[in-house]
Order: sequence, then structure tokens, then C-alpha cells
Amino acid sequence: MSTAIRDGKHYRACNLCEAVCGLAITVEGGRVTDLRGDPLDPLSRGAICPKAAALTDLHADPDRLRSPVRREGASWVSLEWDAALDLVAERLREVGKRYGNDAVAVYLGNPTVHNSGTLLSVGGFLRALQTKNRFSATSVDQLPHHVAALEMFGHPFLIPVPDIDRTDHFLMLGANPLVSNGSLMTAPGMRERLKALRKRGGRVVVVDPRRTETAAVADEHVFIRPGTDAAFLLALIEAVFAEGLANVGRLEPHIDGIDALREAAQAFPAERVADWTGVEAATIRRIAREFAAAPRAVAYGRIGLSTQTFGGLCQWLVVALNAICGRLDVEGGLMWPLPAYDMLQGAKRGEQHAGRWRSRVRGLPEFNGELPVAALSEEMQVPGPGQIRALVTVAGNPVLSTPNGELLDRLLPELEFMVSVDPWMNETTRHADVILPPAHGLETEHYDVIFHHFAVRNTARFNEPLYELDSEQRYDWQIFAGLRDRLSDKPALSPRERIDLGLQHGPHRTSLAELRADPHGIDYGALTPCLPERLLTADGRIALAPRAFLADLVRLDTALAGPAPELVLIGRRQLRGNNSWMHNSARLMRGPDRCTLLINEVDASARDIHEGDLVEIESGAGTIRVPCEITADLMPGVVSLPHGFGHARPGVGASVAREHPGASYNDLTDPSRLDNLTGNAALNGLPVTVRPSARRDPKALASSRAVPA
Ligand code: SF4
Repeated sequence: MSTAIRDGKHYRACNLCEAVCGLAITVEGGRVTDLRGDPLDPLSRGAICPKAAALTDLHADPDRLRSPVRREGASWVSLEWDAALDLVAERLREVGKRYGNDAVAVYLGNPTVHNSGTLLSVGGFLRALQTKNRFSATSVDQLPHHVAALEMFGHPFLIPVPDIDRTDHFLMLGANPLVSNGSLMTAPGMRERLKALRKRGGRVVVVDPRRTETAAVADEHVFIRPGTDAAFLLALIEAVFAEGLANVGRLEPHIDGIDALREAAQAFPAERVADWTGVEAATIRRIAREFAAAPRAVAYGRIGLSTQTFGGLCQWLVVALNAICGRLDVEGGLMWPLPAYDMLQGAKRGEQHAGRWRSRVRGLPEFNGELPVAALSEEMQVPGPGQIRALVTVAGNPVLSTPNGELLDRLLPELEFMVSVDPWMNETTRHADVILPPAHGLETEHYDVIFHHFAVRNTARFNEPLYELDSEQRYDWQIFAGLRDRLSDKPALSPRERIDLGLQHGPHRTSLAELRADPHGIDYGALTPCLPERLLTADGRIALAPRAFLADLVRLDTALAGPAPELVLIGRRQLRGNNSWMHNSARLMRGPDRCTLLINEVDASARDIHEGDLVEIESGAGTIRVPCEITADLMPGVVSLPHGFGHARPGVGASVAREHPGASYNDLTDPSRLDNLTGNAALNGLPVTVRPSARRDPKALASSRAVPA
């Protein structure tokens, strides 16, 4: 076990989710004895959530791997670091030599972007591999945001965020920030921020198929059928134009496509989309009027909009609605943060970020150096030149988090070689030949490279580790440097050097030394207008109606004319978890099992389903069984299940998670169900049938255990 650097008070940002809350941590006798929100953090101002406790739980987790292991038949044996890195480099080189570089694939999991060490060192290793088969969690999450930002503003990371602290009217779709504390909107302490908004006379309107925790504290909640948000947004835009409420404001001279947007929206008036969306035409028109009339307003859409078949259209239309109402780049509207370490520093106008190659089997386009992860299974399964023969996973668990994880689970053992850089033996890494576990959480330094780009206030903080490593441990960046050095002769800066350089050349001209001197973080103030200067489109203008998005409206038009499925499945975020990462924290998993299917009382009664029954959920891809909870908080025709569960698979080395196995949402999802425009997996709005399980076992119900079918 690593040892505490010193007793006393430590300050650091929590990197378990996008909110990056500041923490004040007391260490006594080498152990964490107190952990609370840091009131002096200028972004989180003392806010914290129950998940922060997981930092200490995961640090002390006896299941966490601390040195390399190699599979030998059915067992695992320890390896020295040098031997492990030699072996991995040799096997990857061998596969690349025999079948070509693309035969080695890489999957980067979501924690990659929460760890500066991984994020700033993995690139050198990827360049050494020279594979086009790169995948990540982006395409099961927020790819539509990146595509819309690229098409409209010229860079995948020019994603605007709600200026929540100064708005008077917050319209949100497919988002539950009270539970997430913001996503692509780093806004810790969301409950307080929403309270403050309403206290200053503001209004919160939530449009969602579920009466979420956020909807429960909003001024208004409107049910909407999953997957129809694009039509709803077009109807809002049509109403704004038709009722003469459009007022683009200061940016009008810099925007192209206003007329094309108006024309496109004319085909989707409220009266046409009402039945399909489940929202009355009068309600749609009233929401549009109220949004346009509020002194300061912002519309925001998140994961429920991104992970559906029209994800790209949704994220485009959210920005477009803001733009035509003059809510873009103004106080209280959608704005762009200016982070101290700015990834856009040095980016050039009109640079190409997409479509430079395609996936071998389905021809799906690359975006920002990656292919849609929905193509991963088929690229492993279909024979031919370029077939994936080896896989590297980094901080990821695609068996639980990507479409048809069950198929991937069956394909992984057929690989010629697999290596995982991961501290846990999870549902995916249990298939690896070698696991290289990096230091974790409190053992690492942290500067949040990514999420200051999405923060609702400009701040920066760098924090030192609380624990120093034992001789058997390595940092993530040491692992990637070790692999890179064995595969290529290109040197690279350490993450710390890169952060310092980025800070010095960034917009706030600061440095690592300056940040280290103030462990609570530095406040650079509220967001400020930055357009047109920050635009990176080739012509330096905003494209309000990009051609690819207009063309995709044909698909929406066709869907609107077709029949609606009887019952569809949506996901749900939970406060005490984030994907599957924290399922091995006993504190966070306490209480009733959370992997339950929520079902409306009307749908339950029509299927003779009772509270607590074990039910079978069947999709075109598979069947799982989970207990159900009957609720009035879901729209009829919709059922909801959290993702990240499914820990009953043999060989998973996470003892707490195995006590709460649940079943995996992604054993139901289908890799062919995509947002065609962006390549993001359409996990939400999945047609399913639900019935009482034939295995009605009162004991199984009492223990609330869900099992794969
Ligand atoms: S919301 Fe919770 S998990 Fe997220 S950063 Fe804050 S304390 Fe950590």
C-alpha cells in the first residue's frame, strides 16, 4: 500500500466526474480521517457529492491491482514492470508486423479524460502504434456535441456551455444535472446553482421522458417521447420565426444560414410534431415564446439527446435555438470558457478533424482520430486484411459500456493478444493477457485538462498527490512512456512539463508554480464573450445551417411519418455511481440494489407486472432480467434502466461489485443502431418488450439480484 506523504490538511480536486469539486482532506496517522468540500475552491465553493468518499474507498480497495499480472492458463501470475512492458511491446509489434498496424486496436475509456497523466501521455504511445483502429467512450456519449461544434464553430472542442449563474430561464432536455452536477457543463453544486437561479426570479424547464431529480425541483416538467427531441426543437425554432420572435443580436453579421434554418424548420411546425413527440402543440408554442421573451435564457441538451438516433440533429438544434434568440456568446446564454491550459491554443482555422478514413467493415467515418465504437465488434469478427487481432484497453470497460457488450465479451478471448492499462480486473480486462495497473486517484497529481474547457466559470487548480508510490507501483504516464520508448524513438515531455508549458502560453499566462502556490485554485472570473475571435471555421463565420445537418432532416421526416414502437428503453444516471467505476465501493453500494427497471403503472398493469417482480427485458440483441419498480415518474410507453451493471460474469475481480451484479443495459443494445449523422451509438429509445419473468422466484426477488438471461 502506498504511504501518505504527510499528515495534515490536503486540498485537491475530485476527478471522479466532470464537476471537479474542490476537496479538503485531512490525513492523520497516514489515513484519511476527514473529507469535505473545499469552501475556498472558486468553482465548487464547498460543494461535494457522496461519490467523493469513493476516492478513499478505491484507494484502499484490496481488489485494486498495483503491479503487472500476466495470464497463465486459468490463473494470473505477477510480473516485474520491465518484463511486462517488454512483453507487451513485443507482442504488439509482432501482431503489427504480421497483419499490419491496423490489426492492433485501442479503446480509451471515459476515465482517460479525468486523469491528466493518462491524457497527456497516451498520445505518444498511440502515435507509436500507428493504428487507425482507435475507439473511445466518446461515441457512446457526446460525439454529437463535438460534430455540431466542428460544423458550426470550426473545432470539435468549441462546445458552448450554459452560463447558469447568470441566466433567468434554463430550458434543458435529456439532462439530469442535479444528479450529474453537470455534463459538458462543469457546474459543481448544481442544487445551489438552480436554487440561486430561481431565487433571482428565474425559471427552470425540464423536457424529459422521466420526471428526473432535476425535473422534480424545476418550475415545469414536460414529458417527451424518447428520440423525438429533434422534431420538438425544430418546432420551437419554427414558432420563434413564425411569431416574429427571432432576434440574433450582436452576432448576426457573423452568422450564415439563418434563412436556411428558417426554411428547414417550416416543415416541422408544432401541430405536425405534437403527436409524435407527445407534447401538445400549444405547450411547444408557449415554451418557445417564454424562451424568446426571458431577459436572459439558455437552452441545453445532454446525454438523452446525444445517445439517440438523431443525436447530431439535436445538438445542432439546441445551439441554433439559442442563436436565433440572441442567446449565443452573451451573459446568461451559451458561452465559451477560456481555460488556463487551452487545448485550442495553436489550432488553425479550417483544419480537418473528420472523415480522413473509414472503418473497414461498415465504412463509418473517423472523427478526431477515432472510429465509432459501435464498429469495434465487427472489426474483430469479420475476417480479412485489417481485421483486429490485438487490443489495448485504457481505463475502459467496453463490455459494459458499448453496444452489444455480450458479443464483445465473446469475441475478446479470440484475440491473439490483449493488454489492459487498468487498476481493476473488470468485465473487459479479465480477458487481457497482461494487465498493467497504474497508480490511482489520491496517489496522482491532477490538473483538469479537459473539464475547464466546459466549466461555467474560468478557474484553474493543480494538486499534488496525497500518497507516494510503493516501489512496485507506476504512474500511468510512466507506463505509456515505457511502451512508447520500446515502440518508437520519439521522445516526449512529461505531463507535468506539458501542463506547465500549456499554462505559460495559455490565455491567462500562468504557470505550474503559480498554481502550486494556491492549492484551492485560481479564479479568472465569469465567462466572457469571445466571438468571432475564437471561431475556427475556414471563413471565420458561424455556420447556423451546415449542409450535412440539413440533409439529415430527410431521415427525421421519414421517422416522423412512421409508426412509433410500443415500448422503448432509456438509461438513467444515479447519484452514487458513474458508469461502472464506483461499483466496488461498499459505501456507495449500500442500500437497495439500484439496477432496477422503472416502469409506468399503466404499462405494468397491462403486462400483469407488480412492484418488485423480476421482469424480462428483450430487445433485438438480447434478454436480461432485473427487478422492477413501478412509478408515475415515467411517461407511459417508456421504461428506464441504469447502465454499468452486469458484474456476475466469471473472473471479475471486484468483490463488492459482484455482490451487486445487476444486469448490463448494453446486453440489449445493438451496434447497428446509430445516429447516422455522427456515428454515436443510439443507446436510448431502444424498442423493447417487457414481461414478467418465467423464473418467478420469491427468494431472487427478496435479494433483488438481477442476472443475465
Ligand atoms: S460531484 Fe461528486 S464525484 Fe463529481 S467531482 Fe464533485 S465530489 Fe467528485
